[in-house]
Amino acid sequence: TYVIAQPCVDVKDRSCVDECPVDCIYEGRRALYIQTDECVDCGACEPVCPVEAVFFEADLPAAWQGYRASAEDFFQGV
Ligand code: SF4
Repeated sequence: TYVIAQPCVDVKDRSCVDECPVDCIYEGRRALYIQTDECVDCGACEPVCPVEAVFFEADLPAAWQGYRASAEDFFQGV
């Protein structure tokens, strides 16, 4: 899956939402979240993000590992 990290917080540009072919990027209160089970790993969202908030999970910087869990928490609450 891909993960949206800290740069998205309070930005929510939404360019990624328009690119996602399976519509698996959802809007939270302060950031956007990728639904892991629906993401097909196409990578289309990553280059269009103006603040470089989107990472393939294996490339997620150490400091932002918590954003994977944040997405899981977000979708459990939906
Ligand atoms: Fe959507 Fe593709 Fe990004 Fe996954 S990698 S969130 S399917 S645009």
